[in-house]
Amino acid sequence: MTADFKKLQNNIFSQLPQVDWLLQKQEYQNLINLYPRELVVDQIRNYLNTFRKDVTKMTIDELKSTDISKEKISQVILSKLKSSLQPNLKRVINATGIILNTGLGRAPLSKQAQRALLEVSAGFSSVEIDLPSGKRGNRHNLVEELLTNLTGAEAAAVVNNNAAATLLTLNTLSDHKETIVSRGELITIGGSFRIPDIMKKSGAIMREIGTTNHTKLWEYEDAINEHTGLLLKVHTSNYKIVGFVSETSLEEMATLGKKYNLPVMHDLGSGMLFDLSKFGLPKEPVVSESIKFGADVVTFSGDKLLGGPQAGIIVGKKKYLDLIKKNQLARAVRCGKLTFAALEATLRLFFDEEKILAHHPALRMMLSPEDTLQKEANKLKKGLKKIIGNRGDVRFEKGLSEVGGGSLAAESLPTRLVSVELKKMSPEDFGKKLRLSDPPIITRIVQDRTVFDVRTLIAGEIKKIIAAVSRILQE
Ligand SMILES: *Cc1c(COP(=O)(O)O)cnc(C)c1O
Repeated sequence: MTADFKKLQNNIFSQLPQVDWLLQKQEYQNLINLYPRELVVDQIRNYLNTFRKDVTKMTIDELKSTDISKEKISQVILSKLKSSLQPNLKRVINATGIILNTGLGRAPLSKQAQRALLEVSAGFSSVEIDLPSGKRGNRHNLVEELLTNLTGAEAAAVVNNNAAATLLTLNTLSDHKETIVSRGELITIGGSFRIPDIMKKSGAIMREIGTTNHTKLWEYEDAINEHTGLLLKVHTSNYKIVGFVSETSLEEMATLGKKYNLPVMHDLGSGMLFDLSKFGLPKEPVVSESIKFGADVVTFSGDKLLGGPQAGIIVGKKKYLDLIKKNQLARAVRCGKLTFAALEATLRLFFDEEKILAHHPALRMMLSPEDTLQKEANKLKKGLKKIIGNRGDVRFEKGLSEVGGGSLAAESLPTRLVSVELKKMSPEDFGKKLRLSDPPIITRIVQDRTVFDVRTLIAGEIKKIIAAVSRILQE
């Protein structure tokens, strides 16, 4: 090692700022006000150490060309600190037009549910105490009456998600016993939920009957034997068979179940608490109808059309729900107070169907009138055009939004899109920069253009998109 080399290295080391020098700066003070001081100091030390190590590995040419003013290093460390202190789970802007997007957390919660979360999380809560008696309570009671009122069922329980609800119900009613199910209903949802697999895990023995497009009542009856535990019907949420189709109705299955004293389970997937066709939307199965048609147990999600937190809801006959609640597996898939807080607030919205649109973000997005969408699209297009100018092209597109979450399969909602093409940036790069913005913005690419669907935007987000695009173009 030449003396020259050593001198250069030492020169750089002597330039490195001290931790205390950095901490005096206002920008660092701001971070210390927001985050624990020790965390910030630790991170600074880590960055300085890494920088020192990097310097020892540099060639003489690299050493000569390195800009290492204190200010420069301070700025680099600050931006690294800021990004490392950000949470991994962030609120994002959904400009995809897919309302119930599992990757984006499905339903946005109502203001009522947000308030309930904040209130319950700030202190202790009555999650398992019966307040009048002071005795240990049962968390299922928190929402059981709401659910039985809304669905007409005798009893209800809530677990972690609908996959858990299905697993728990199958395990309770059909462990080591046969569950009869039509081949047309052996579905996969979102890649990881498969009826045959969940059945295997539950201990139920799958007894497939019928064919993909055709299953008759007599085939269920033919399959019943002394090992049968359950008749299962699954709503084929995310696909539709058209053409020569015959499925056995829930009512017929329920009558058969009664005749042989076997429970009938209906996995609804999304399920809805009232008929959406009253708002002009296609009909999604209604939970109370499944109960009325004679299902003994019905399972559905809390965060699909219901618009609540991730949860799996089980409603049905009390004698079966009692068994389900007592199952040790129920303890393993129970949900926490935050879920109950948000779910209870969401369920209460459904008692006033007239006002629900004003409060329920997912429903409001589904029902957003085209003139409202057009107005929002105008705002977005105008803002983007002003920022982008002659650096690219901004225009309206016609297109479709989706409900998503396996709800209302094959139904698309006509929407208003704003699309952008930049002269000096590929749509892939632009999409990535949008995702790395603060807040992250999620878009789609259609025919080499970046597309923003205004349907899934929430108040104030158009401004944020315009500001983000402006920052991206300034970089
Ligand atoms: C979505 C769905 C599930 C899984 O529900 P999660 O809440 O995602 O666990 C199960 N069954 C059907 C029919 C579904 O549509």
